[in-house]
Amino acid sequence: MDKFVCGYCGKEYDNVEDRMECEKKCRAEILKKEEKEKEAKRNEEMDNDYSNISKLVKERDRLDNQISKAVRSYNKKYDNFGLSINRFFPFAITPFATYLDF
Ligand SMILES: [Zn+2]
Repeated sequence: MDKFVCGYCGKEYDNVEDRMECEKKCRAEILKKEEKEKEAKRNEEMDNDYSNISKLVKERDRLDNQISKAVRSYNKKYDNFGLSINRFFPFAITPFATYLDF
């Protein structure tokens, strides 16, 4: 008598119904596994992207501090008679305005 073989796991069955049942189960498990792998990959990418943004933010904050110190020192040194510092800050109303505080 011919055996019925599951196309996924290779188990043998005496009737087609049992084989179909096994294939259904095996297929569901494979899909579940693939879904988990996809999710893990996405989470890893998300962590990497977040970490890259974090690095950029830290770099921006570092530059912000550096600019702030340089502007303060400029203002102190030239007592506002040198080249206007405002030209660096076309949108001077925003956070940078604090740098222009004498
Ligand atoms: Zn199977």
